Amino acid sequence: MKGVKLFRVLGIQISLNYTWFIVFGLIAWSLASGYFPSYYPDLSRSAYWVMGFLGAFFLFLSVLVHELTHSYIAKREGIEVKEIILFIFGGISQLTKEPEDSKKELKVAIGGPLSSLVLALIFWILFKTTLRSPHLILFTGLLGYLAFINLSLAIFNLIPGFPLDGGRVLRALYWRKTGSLKKATRIASETGKWIGVGIIILGLFWILTGNLIGGFWFVIIGIFLRSAAEGGLQQVVMKGALEGVKVRELMSHGIISVEPSLHIDRLVEDFYLTHKHITYPVVKDEKIIGIVTLKQVKEVPRDQWVEKTVREVMMPIREEIMLDPDGEAVDALQKMIRTGEGRLPVVKDGKVVGMVTRKDILSLLEIKTDLTE
Ligand SMILES: [Zn+2]
Repeated sequence: MKGVKLFRVLGIQISLNYTWFIVFGLIAWSLASGYFPSYYPDLSRSAYWVMGFLGAFFLFLSVLVHELTHSYIAKREGIEVKEIILFIFGGISQLTKEPEDSKKELKVAIGGPLSSLVLALIFWILFKTTLRSPHLILFTGLLGYLAFINLSLAIFNLIPGFPLDGGRVLRALYWRKTGSLKKATRIASETGKWIGVGIIILGLFWILTGNLIGGFWFVIIGIFLRSAAEGGLQQVVMKGALEGVKVRELMSHGIISVEPSLHIDRLVEDFYLTHKHITYPVVKDEKIIGIVTLKQVKEVPRDQWVEKTVREVMMPIREEIMLDPDGEAVDALQKMIRTGEGRLPVVKDGKVVGMVTRKDILSLLEIKTDLTE
């Protein structure tokens, strides 16, 4: 899942998922026009909007604290955390590896909801103390909401569907019982999917009986939970199968490269139609200077094929479109998915040492997952 990079805390990259921007607006709006006016009538429209935006912003901070707690515990247990991607109902802490045993998993999973509970308690106490001062009503409203929303975060994340925290707790318990991480993940994901379906049905029922906003939120949460459960399982299966496999072991050594001065008509005739690869490294004086793909060739009108050269259409080489022979196969696959390139050169000291295609990685994945079924 993609995100917009924000800043770093504790050496961890914090990113926002794109959906956040839409949902941030929706939350500010539903707070300013629904929630706050119904609990605190007789305030000005602008006061409601200030409360709405502050509410949405502090919700973001609350989610961040929740995720950072997971990451902090994971780090203390020896698991590096690369990135935290924040969604509205929580986030995904991208651990570099799965916890090695069910005990660690349990600790990392439970930390987040506990921190949300603590925040809920703090906001609740502050809410109670400002209740006595009527001129602080703006803060009272905000604090009350934050206590409520942190409690909701704790409860929502404890829903027993992987990859939510509750699902991770469930997985840790099954893991301890069955001794198989994969089996435990499958059970926890299935549970998550069915709970997601249940929540969607409940939301639709509410919408039909007149509770539009509440029902709408439930449907969104249900859809989110279902797709998260599915994605979580796929990721675990993929990571498990490709764990420890290096790019070097996957790459093919038969390298067919092209010269930058080659004309497109020759490129098509002598390379594309002859060798049938989709991507070729462009090499000058034994060093790679770019790659040329079918996509770029297709962009050149046919009548210009005789004049244009590879140099004019190629993608100059950069980190994103080359692989390291000692890199992990999982990262190589992710790079291919990110850039949309199906075949990338493996480069060492500026020289092409091999080529890897997405198909190479996927076939290995298929074989390995079939064997360990
Ligand atoms: Zn969590």
